[in-house]
Amino acid sequence: MRWSKALIPTHKEDPSHAETTSHKLMLRAGLIRKLTSGVYSYLPLGWRVLKRIENIVREELDAVGCQEILMPVISPAELWEETGRWGVYGKELWRVKDRNGREFALGPTHEEVVTDIARNEINSYKQLPFTVYQIQTKFRDEIRPRFGVVRAREFTMKDAYSFHRDEESLDETYRAIYDVYSRIFDRCDLVYRPVEAATGAIGGSSSHEFMVLSDTGESEVIVCECGYAATSEQAEGVIADVMPVEEPGAMEEVATPGMKTIEEVAGFLKIDPWRLVKTIVYVADEEPVLAVIRGDREVNEEKLAGVLGADIIEAAPPAVIEKVSGAPVGFAGPVGLANVRQVIDRSVEPLRNIVVGGNKADTHIRNVNHGRDFTVASFEDIAQIGKGDACANCGKAMDSFRGIEVSQVFKLGTKYSDSMNATFLDENGKAKPFVMGCYGLGVSRTVAAVIEQHSDDDGIAWPMSVAPFEALIVALNNLKSDAVREAAEKLYEELKGLGVDTLLDDRPDSAGVKFKDADLIGIPVRVTIGDRGLDKGIMEVRLRKSGEKSEVPKENAGAEVLAIVNGLRG
Ligand code: ATP
Ligand code: MG
Repeated sequence: MRWSKALIPTHKEDPSHAETTSHKLMLRAGLIRKLTSGVYSYLPLGWRVLKRIENIVREELDAVGCQEILMPVISPAELWEETGRWGVYGKELWRVKDRNGREFALGPTHEEVVTDIARNEINSYKQLPFTVYQIQTKFRDEIRPRFGVVRAREFTMKDAYSFHRDEESLDETYRAIYDVYSRIFDRCDLVYRPVEAATGAIGGSSSHEFMVLSDTGESEVIVCECGYAATSEQAEGVIADVMPVEEPGAMEEVATPGMKTIEEVAGFLKIDPWRLVKTIVYVADEEPVLAVIRGDREVNEEKLAGVLGADIIEAAPPAVIEKVSGAPVGFAGPVGLANVRQVIDRSVEPLRNIVVGGNKADTHIRNVNHGRDFTVASFEDIAQIGKGDACANCGKAMDSFRGIEVSQVFKLGTKYSDSMNATFLDENGKAKPFVMGCYGLGVSRTVAAVIEQHSDDDGIAWPMSVAPFEALIVALNNLKSDAVREAAEKLYEELKGLGVDTLLDDRPDSAGVKFKDADLIGIPVRVTIGDRGLDKGIMEVRLRKSGEKSEVPKENAGAEVLAIVNGLRG
């Protein structure tokens, strides 16, 4: 491709609204342009990278016998009603109506559609197991689209689905796809880590996420030296006990005028925040619930939903809090509210003489003791676990890092086949539900993840495997110098002939502009052709990543550049 004719609109300055490196560089290097919130066009460079990642994904999945298909973006509401997800998915599900008022979803994921195919087309255990996948545009009306293509409302996903006669067969495929994902991310030259994950709206029994290490990542991962690694949504751990042994004191009300936060009340009563036990009112599947936890810890809503067996869980609006506690927001507590379901975190168990909200305006109660002053059926694990908490396996203090979730794999079991009545006949002619797995990979998010790990102050430094071009020829002063223009054209044709994907910078711009742009768009191998070099019989080759320079004889430039590109192809 000739740069003079290409749509590669580069910018010198960082766009003001972009927060992360990848978002800034994708805009500055002319990879993408925003149409509206969370919706982007891919310009030639961005599209080429996306395609290269798609091809890596395709090659690796095809290699283990997965079959590529393409399902529709649009699916009818009735299908989603069969699994209950028309309701459960909430506002993230992008809903549209046809001219007759019939409702449809723009696919955020395709479990329902693929299960419908399986129940219609697969009858016998002899046809199992099988895995299909597609690479397709997905729609999710994210509450907070941000970081460019990392959290978009329209994005490219590879989603794969596997169907099995039993759990054993699912385990095998799950493991195989897990390994395929490792190969895909290795080929993209990413530093990543697979971790245990929560199953969220997709559901199922077991799940892993592949996290690309990055300080700009939205996910927090908790890790232990012993090898344990889980997302903070999922992480299990032991919260250190901080309570000295104490005899229960007499319960008493204290006035805490206008004090609604833990910090305010702890400061006012001159106590440690852990002695205050906070009560948070949630609405779980339309029922109010109290979550009770030590004052210095936070509730993990995924865990709470798990304990309650709830599909939708939300912080209660003020009107509900006031109705449930009989007090303004900030004064709810477990004492005297036995008629509301209470979930008490394990961190409360060792505590004595705690301070809780008094369910009365401007009032807290001190010297509260569980068992005596409020009943606890069982202590549950609903706490957010973080850095410094003890590992549940080995007891050591755990660490944390931030990551970008580039993919997630789930063992679904029979969640979808049961609700959609999708069955096959086993050896005895008995109908059994398919055991299923599903495997998502964010192709467009991976583009951004690669940039987060492969960039520097000057711009992007693509790994060869996903670069939009393999080589860039920078022709200096090409409009005035016939020798440069001819040498550049010759090398360009030669490299194309040798199968090297090459961009020729034949623009009439200064060397400074061309070098800056070259560093910004980050093509791995740059060949500079100028009069001075040609006089000496050489061209200069520079590697974008290391900055390493070398000279190649001009007569033999094509073969030499091919050798360098080959060295980086891996
Ligand atoms: P997240 O927790 O980041 O919202 P998710 O758990 O909802 O992700 P999945 O449903 O597992 O994601 O989707 C599979 C993959 O699709 C994710 O691992 C991610 O790489 C990608 N993905 C999900 N949501 C988006 C989005 N809004 N924009 C871009 N990629 C996305
Ligand atoms: Mg999501």
